[in-house]
Formats: sequence, C-alpha cells, structure tokens
Amino acid sequence: MKKVVFFILCALVLSGCGPYTKAEKAQLKAAGVYAQAKDCTHTDSVKKMLSGDFQGKYIQSYCDLDISSTSGVNTLLKGGVPTKVVQAMINRENYHGSLAKRYAAYYKKQKTSAKQTILAVNTNQDLEPYSKTILVHKDTNPAYLVNKFYALPEGYEPRDLKPIQSVCTVGDTGCNSDELYLRKEANTAFQKMVKAGKKENLKIVAISGYRSYDYQLNLWTTNANTYGQDYADAYFARAGQSEHNTGLAVDITFNDHPFNEIENYKGYNWILKNMHSYGFILRYPKEKEKVTRYSYESWHLRYVGKKVAKTCFEKNWTLEEYWGNQ
Ligand SMILES: [Zn+2]
Repeated sequence: MKKVVFFILCALVLSGCGPYTKAEKAQLKAAGVYAQAKDCTHTDSVKKMLSGDFQGKYIQSYCDLDISSTSGVNTLLKGGVPTKVVQAMINRENYHGSLAKRYAAYYKKQKTSAKQTILAVNTNQDLEPYSKTILVHKDTNPAYLVNKFYALPEGYEPRDLKPIQSVCTVGDTGCNSDELYLRKEANTAFQKMVKAGKKENLKIVAISGYRSYDYQLNLWTTNANTYGQDYADAYFARAGQSEHNTGLAVDITFNDHPFNEIENYKGYNWILKNMHSYGFILRYPKEKEKVTRYSYESWHLRYVGKKVAKTCFEKNWTLEEYWGNQ
C-alpha cells in the first residue's frame, strides 16, 4: 500500500497540473483516485476533486503545486477539517480563505457545521473581546461596525451632527431639554419615526445620542482606575468602541418612562415591528449576547439605513451577523 501511495504522490507531482498519461490514470484509478480536473490552479477543479472520492492528502499533494486561487483549502485540510466539511465551507459565499486557520481551529474545538463555523469566525466569536482591534477609517456607510473588535480612531467626531428634536434627559424634576445629537441622516430618520409614533399615541424620546471619544475615555478610565479593568470592560465600552461615538446610536424611551423598562410599555411592540422601516435596528437583542458581546439592551437603537435594517429584521440578524454573512 505504501508503494502505491508513493507512486500516486510521485505521479501527481511529476504530472503537475497537466493531463495524466494513460498508465498514470490506470494507476490512480486502481487506487481509487482519479483526477478529473486538469487545472489545479482553478478553484472549480479543487471543488470537483473535493466532491469526488479524493482524500484530503491527495488534494494536498496535487494542489500544493499552486493553490493560490483556492485560498485556505490546504490550511483547512492540514488543520484536520474533514474533506466534506471543507467542501461545504469553500462553497459558501461568506467563506474567506484568509480566515482558514481560524475556521479550522474553531471547527476542531466546537465541531459545528460548516455554516456555523464560518459565521462564528466571521463574527469573531472565536476571539476574546478587545484581543484584536481593527481601526475603522470610513464612516460613509451608516451600517459600519463599531464593537469590541472594530474601533473608531482617536478623537473621532462625525462631521454632520444635528440636535435631536424629541429629547428627554430625565432629572429630578422630570424631563430636561439638554441637547442631544445624531448624524444628519440618522437624525432625519429618527424624527420620521417619532412622527409616526405620535400617530400611535406614542411619545418616543431620545435619552442619549452622540457621545464623544473623550467622554467615553474618561468614563472607562475612571472606572478602570477605581474598580479594575475587568469591571470597566463589563459595563463600559472602551474609547472609540462605543456605538454612541458614531452619532448613529440612540437610547430611547416613551415620555419619562424608565428606559430600562420600556419593553413593558404597550407601545414597545410598535417599535420592534416598525423601526426597520426608518432604518433602525435593536442593536443588542436578547439571546444574541454571544455575537454582540453585549447584554440585552431594549432601549439602544442603531441607525444602519433602511436596506440593512430590513435584512436584519427579516433574517433576525444582528449587525455582526449581517457583515459575517457577506
Ligand atoms: Zn446606548
């Protein structure tokens, strides 16, 4: 058997990516290995091979020659991912070869399906919060991510902040009319939602909008110095990593109803059902803590634009899952 395998490997290597000789084909066929694909630099060839009777090791020896266009396949195979799972992975549209090492590690540990493995890694579920920080340089797409892995640059301030019209910052004597801000597009959408809510006899108010980089830095640092870093991380976002810094997130309530009890308010269902039509999503939903890395917040809405909001609403996706499915 060893001899046969040796011969096959030699045949594969020597023959390169070109067609096999008749004798080679016969040998390969006898060993249960038959290359239908002629060009191993082409992704489709490897897909064909994976769907055939080939074992991972043969594909490896064949495609080590040049597998640049089928990024990550060898890494997955070497990482112990079974051929069938590899095939299922690379056929998915949200597969990224550059993450193959992490897919393999996650699969080995969790034994999840190809679909679950890819989504988990694409949404950084295999990493510790704040263990990798990617700086966000563009704020033109309102659906961009800011979380425990994606950070705004130091001192970031949106250029188009506008004061919110419907505000209630609760003080000892009821609502104060402190100024709160959202970026122009989010602000307009919020006003439209407030107006529509009025027709339902709901008084939707903002209790928090844009927060500056320095405000968040101060908040986190004070808590970290007093109670330690773990405590600060559990309750406060780090500077540049709070969604409120984007000017696209708003905390809401009805009238002067306590914000952390709004889900008990009769109008809350209207918000849940309709906010996507105005471009908003509930950013930290129940039972998605593993993905968002935040506890459930019934009051925290994020403007992402109508299209993305609709997709998230229909598919029950968080913003992380939206991007993880791309
Ligand atoms: Zn909030």
